[in-house]
Amino acid sequence: MRLGRIGEFALIRRLARHCPTNPALLLGIGDDAAVLSAPRAPALLWTTDLLVEGIHFRRSWTRFYDLGAKAIAVNLSDVAAMGGTPRHALVSLALPAQTAVEEVEALYRGCRDACLRYGVSLAGGDTSRSPKGVFLSVSVLGVAGKGLLRRSGARAGDVVFVTGTLGDAAAGLALLRAGRTPPRRRYGGGVRGHEKTLMLRHLHPLPPVGVGGRLCGLASAAIDVSDGLVADLGHLCRSSGVGAEIRLDAVPLSPSLLAVAPRLPREALAYALHGGEDYQLLFTVPPQRVARLRRRLRGTGVSVTAIGTVVASPRCVVLRDARGRRVRVLREGYEHFRREESP
Ligand code: ADP
Ligand code: MG
Repeated sequence: MRLGRIGEFALIRRLARHCPTNPALLLGIGDDAAVLSAPRAPALLWTTDLLVEGIHFRRSWTRFYDLGAKAIAVNLSDVAAMGGTPRHALVSLALPAQTAVEEVEALYRGCRDACLRYGVSLAGGDTSRSPKGVFLSVSVLGVAGKGLLRRSGARAGDVVFVTGTLGDAAAGLALLRAGRTPPRRRYGGGVRGHEKTLMLRHLHPLPPVGVGGRLCGLASAAIDVSDGLVADLGHLCRSSGVGAEIRLDAVPLSPSLLAVAPRLPREALAYALHGGEDYQLLFTVPPQRVARLRRRLRGTGVSVTAIGTVVASPRCVVLRDARGRRVRVLREGYEHFRREESP
């Protein structure tokens, strides 16, 4: 059934059935505004992301379900990167009239599954017709814990950490671009096979949201890895007025990436350093707090890896191999900086 047949209000009533709630949502969909209980929090965090068909996603390999789940997940990642806990989401949609109602419901099932996994309510939104293409805007409200994580607090000598593994999502995207069939899974579900695992990492990012709050008071700076390790560490360094040195042999790569990389156009490390959309947390910790950090993250099921050190200068990201030699990693692969190799 096409949207044009049922109209806006019947659509909203259908979508409302998919929207999860939580105790802090006093009034959800159906009135002029959502009503939230005022949280007793030191501060609120508020973020939004706009997804445009043809710019951020292609209908050819993006199912509506996956689009909904990912749109929620990337916003939750931003709240976590500030040290907060996400609580409520708003979803605004612009859809061509010929869109199938079933597809929009699938999109909301994706939103619902991602919200449920992280305890977030879907408190409302807005709906409009679009002359061409799908637009999806999600905004998420979160509460700050004991402090905030900014990009700007890193100091020389701090240890650079990253959660999980890097490069999987970018490698998964390369597989999708090459025409592999995307796996169909519920958000948060697993899949067998290395190629499918990588594609799922692109389609269903699972940001380590619970870790964000635990970093407060320990991490000096944090950012989520959405544009790739080198780019996002660069943002953090610029905000903090410092540089960083990364040990390439320490960068965490998944068994799936290592298994599939020989069949991909680039080396595994190139995906980890320059590929985007990992939605892992990248953060810096003063050395004297590292032991406390490891204790605090024990039992979360999230791995963290020390990959380098913050330096006073230069104000850029320097990459070194296992022997400490400076290397340049190209997007296509990496090569040594011959001039700077130690004799
Ligand atoms: P208004 O006339 O003020 O724009 P709407 O009719 O758009 O009001 O919205 C009515 C209710 O439906 C509100 O609670 C709003 O949050 C909710 N709503 C509208 N569109 C969506 C959507 N795409 N997803 C979730 N809730 C929605
Ligand atoms: Mg409206």
